[in-house]
Amino acid sequence: MTIPDFSYEFDRILLDRQAKEVAERTKRVLGRYYPSEIPACLRQTFYSYYNPKPKPAKTLRVFEAGDMAHEWVKKMLTALVEAKQIHGEIASLENERPFTIVVDQDEDISIEGRFDDFLMLSNDRERYLIDAKSQKSLYYTNEFKKEHAIQIMPYIYIKRPCKGLIAYVDRATYETKFLPQAPTEGIDYDKEIMNWIFTRTKLLHKYIVTHTMPPPEAKQVKDMNWMCNPAICPWRAECDAAEATKDKWIKPQ
Ligand code: SF4
Repeated sequence: MTIPDFSYEFDRILLDRQAKEVAERTKRVLGRYYPSEIPACLRQTFYSYYNPKPKPAKTLRVFEAGDMAHEWVKKMLTALVEAKQIHGEIASLENERPFTIVVDQDEDISIEGRFDDFLMLSNDRERYLIDAKSQKSLYYTNEFKKEHAIQIMPYIYIKRPCKGLIAYVDRATYETKFLPQAPTEGIDYDKEIMNWIFTRTKLLHKYIVTHTMPPPEAKQVKDMNWMCNPAICPWRAECDAAEATKDKWIKPQ
């Protein structure tokens, strides 16, 4: 009997699951946005809304590794809580429940957080909101990424007072780095960032309701260039084509 091609079958399971999620995405309710969409390229989110597309199996496997990193951090924090090793005090760990933040009541725009994306660790004196992110290596990771601080801010806004921490996990070794590191106490609630999030959510909504394609933001902003990698952005070809068409109409000087 021939041994099944398990690697192929694993990918097929991931791709089938994704196909269902992509089909679900076409039923999205207008005006509801996820925290992870706020720091993303505006044009990419626009495409994901009107032209949801599957990601390659390679990218899905990386996402799976991200889920496993989350489970790893959760498992270790649970063990710490059980052993009362958080400053020797009784603490608790909870998965976050879904939430909604109203951005604009008249326009019916809101930000919705997904179930169990974050972990809340607390005792009588401390409250930490923890987001786990997997990485290929932690060698150069000494500061948290700006987009991760933006993603965690709506959760801090809901749960404040609390401190945000990003747990970066090396996918190969499970080494972790919790950032920001001591003596910094964690990411604080920042009203300015939250106002920026509100403004940006309204801007994104405006592009979507008016069917207006946003500028290719990630191509234009150096810090965002990595988002244009075709393994991350499945709309790279459309985006390049849209720019090429636009450039055709620019008259030579
Ligand atoms: S290719 Fe880059 S600029 Fe274009 S939609 Fe994707 S992330 Fe945005």
